[in-house]
Amino acid sequence: MDVLVVGGAGYIGSHCVRQLLAAGHRPVVLDNLSQGHRAAVPAGVRLVVGEMDDQALVRRVLREERIGLVMHFAALINVGESVRQPERYHRNNVVATLGLLAAMEAEDVRRLVFSSTCATYGVPERMPMSEDLPQRPINPYGQNKLDVENALRGLAAEGRMRFAAFRYFNAAGAAEDGAIGEDHAPETHLIPLAIAAALGRRPPLEVFGADYPTPDGTCLRDYVHVDDLARAHIAVFPKLEAPGAALFYNLGTGVPTSVRDILLAVDCATGKAVPHTFGPRREGDPPALYADASKARRELGWEPRHATIDPIVATAVRWHLAHPAGFGDR
Ligand code: UDP
Repeated sequence: MDVLVVGGAGYIGSHCVRQLLAAGHRPVVLDNLSQGHRAAVPAGVRLVVGEMDDQALVRRVLREERIGLVMHFAALINVGESVRQPERYHRNNVVATLGLLAAMEAEDVRRLVFSSTCATYGVPERMPMSEDLPQRPINPYGQNKLDVENALRGLAAEGRMRFAAFRYFNAAGAAEDGAIGEDHAPETHLIPLAIAAALGRRPPLEVFGADYPTPDGTCLRDYVHVDDLARAHIAVFPKLEAPGAALFYNLGTGVPTSVRDILLAVDCATGKAVPHTFGPRREGDPPALYADASKARRELGWEPRHATIDPIVATAVRWHLAHPAGFGDR
């Protein structure tokens, strides 16, 4: 399959590009490099630097490359920032996506794999979380992703698009061979911050709240390896051949892991204790989020290869040790 990977220079997108290659597909990357990294795109893969709502550009690439399917990862992802800058988030994550969809329709490209998020559920009423839970996002970022899901539902109902939306839990880890990994600026995610603190590259980690109604008082999340996420995106291809395909899947390991569990895993993988302090809760953090991913297991045969936190954190530590400055382009 000839696949346009929008946001293919970013964290999850770049892992997908490598797996597309490994599976014998032909990826082409479109990325504006606002968050992505040129060096994350493998040699031999065409990187088009531009905006996903640049109709002329996207249409030309779809045509030139005879694209059959689009994977869409490009988004602003910082929840706190989305609360402060809702218009910017809406424009970038929703309006620009509608532009991408319009270009696809204009070129008759009607298969899409979309990055969504468990943040579309808001504060869930049940755990583990299955796809049929009500979606009530509590921040603009989650709302943006839900808005796109709804737009896709509408297009699919009219027979104009076939799609799969993957609702990720906490993407984590790095490629097994250490070639690519997580490099966000600014970094806000727990695992890279904890590793950097352990390695003395950042100040002590602040744990956001130790008074949650959870076994150890810190938040529970579901950390899923980025390559396991990527594999689901390819496993879904045959499903997109069915007319009217409108598919939603949660992707997580289903293992609830606390902030303290992460600190222990980082201690273990680095051989150094993570220096940390305890601070107040971060606004908008639900106490627990973990997946029931049985639908992806059942329908896609998807099984996370990294089923526990230690090997996931170990891949992240390897990446950070080998690349102290990340991709070195910021
Ligand atoms: N967290 C923390 N300190 C930090 C960053 C994150 O205690 O410096 C906690 C956060 O409150 C949440 C978990 O770690 O419970 C995962 O946060 P992250 O930002 O990595 O992902 P999120 O779950 O928000 O998508």
